Amino acid sequence: MMRHSAAHIMAEAVQSIFPDTKFGIGPAIENGFYYDFDLPRPLTPDDLPLIEAKMNEIIASNAPFVRQEATKQKARGLFADQPYKLELIDEIPDEKVSLYRQGSFLDLCRGPHVSSSGEIKAFKLINIAGAYWRGDEHQPMLQRIYGVAFATKGALDEHLKKLEEAIKRDHRKLGIELDLFSIHEEAGSGLVHWHPKGAVIRRVIEDFWKDEHIKHGYDIVYTPHIAKLDLWKTSGHWEFYRDSMYSPMEVEEQEYVIKPMNCLGHILIYKTRLRSYRELPLRYAELGTVYRYERSGVLLGLSRVRGFTQDDAHIFCRFDQLEDEVVGVLDLARFMIDTFGFINYKVLLSTRPEKYAGTIEAWEQATDTLSQALTRLKIAHDIDRGEGVFYGPKIDIKFEDALGRGWQGPTIQVDFNLPQRFNVAYIGEDGKEHLVAMVHRTVLGSMERFLASLIEHYGGAFPVWLAPFQVMIIPVADRHLDYAHKLEAGLRDEEIRTEVDDRSERVNLKIRQAQLDKIPYMLIIGDKEVAASTVSVRLRSGEQATAQSFDSFKESVKLAVANKVKDLRL
Ligand SMILES: [Zn+2]
Ligand SMILES: [Zn+2]
Repeated sequence: MMRHSAAHIMAEAVQSIFPDTKFGIGPAIENGFYYDFDLPRPLTPDDLPLIEAKMNEIIASNAPFVRQEATKQKARGLFADQPYKLELIDEIPDEKVSLYRQGSFLDLCRGPHVSSSGEIKAFKLINIAGAYWRGDEHQPMLQRIYGVAFATKGALDEHLKKLEEAIKRDHRKLGIELDLFSIHEEAGSGLVHWHPKGAVIRRVIEDFWKDEHIKHGYDIVYTPHIAKLDLWKTSGHWEFYRDSMYSPMEVEEQEYVIKPMNCLGHILIYKTRLRSYRELPLRYAELGTVYRYERSGVLLGLSRVRGFTQDDAHIFCRFDQLEDEVVGVLDLARFMIDTFGFINYKVLLSTRPEKYAGTIEAWEQATDTLSQALTRLKIAHDIDRGEGVFYGPKIDIKFEDALGRGWQGPTIQVDFNLPQRFNVAYIGEDGKEHLVAMVHRTVLGSMERFLASLIEHYGGAFPVWLAPFQVMIIPVADRHLDYAHKLEAGLRDEEIRTEVDDRSERVNLKIRQAQLDKIPYMLIIGDKEVAASTVSVRLRSGEQATAQSFDSFKESVKLAVANKVKDLRL
């Protein structure tokens, strides 16, 4: 209520500075509020302090928020010069609309608000962005001002500090600084190009992911990127999911589409022969790259893209095996989150929506099964009533990064739709055919979004097992190069990712560069080290470890990598 009221006060301030402003909407959001304005000129960051000053005047005046009701006709008169408000009035089904006035500003609003402007204690305007009216790119582009508001100055300051830290850790910024990935307008929005260093992190994660899946009883499969449109018609995707799919392409008079999901390929593999109940469960895992249409306006670095690789798997099992399978996935998901260094997570169980495939009994049974699996593992969870996908109930896990922000991670979905549409069945003990229980699941989400979360969680300073380069060898002078390269070869033999900075630059500059690149270990090699056959280890934090023998350093790093430790101290 306080945050939304602050939006009204910001609108009043903007009106006093730009009397011809056309107003969009101004809701409260997490930690703050925004308001969309149609203004005579583009705003600059310099405008924000002026608007803030005006807002402070309004707050100091302690103007009451006064509610009044009006017929739609009267309201149309009051907002005659406000085209966006007129549009909103037309859409209100009731005969009367409610209006709120504080000071000189009148707004169409359902409320509620604080009783007077003086109740806004601590706020700050933080950002200006473009926003299409109603999020529709065919509508005018408005200017949106974002603000944050808190009950106390202390809480606001704490939040602003976190925001500052978030900007430093922004994966788009670090992606450039650390040379991890890029997105090119020439190639298209939302399409990620992985540079060598980013690709190293991704490969390490993918190798780990594959090994763990094989250990957990999954089979790795590969499926094509395109498939005949008819297949997507059979699955129902073309009917229900077309908005997120790219247009078909024609190959020898057949229409093909690029896959938005990996499920169908796995079903086709399953169906290559008759399956007996004894074979189940079958678990097919694939790092499957899919393409989905997202509006250009919502694309964001690695976290919202058009092409991404899901760490996907589909489990085909009997219904009496479903609970154990879900427990297995939850266990694996928690192990993954934990290994990558995320501590807190929230779990949501989503139930049957209004439109659904399958029977109510099947839904209830499957929802109970998911809930029992969570109970068995003592995982606290919330219920998101009616928020399941149309084809089945699901569990979503949101993990928290170092700044306490939630990231969408693992998801487990039961599917009543595809087994039926493709007759995905097995021969039971009774000799009859039964439809399988099918589970879609990821344990990271997608490689792109997961990498975004990792980059921001660690601020680019990855644990040694994930770091693109693990050791940078820094020779003090050219006469130390031979020894440096010998060490490099020794480390590379052990698959420790190592480079020698052999540029003829000053040592301090090389150290500074390695620190900026957030390389875990630097080995400084001078006369003393060459003579004694030792190494001087420096951490990226600037901390200096004691000189040690090369072999002992090598063994320590190997151990740190193998144990996936986060602490760099040897
Ligand atoms: Zn309001
Ligand atoms: Zn799937």
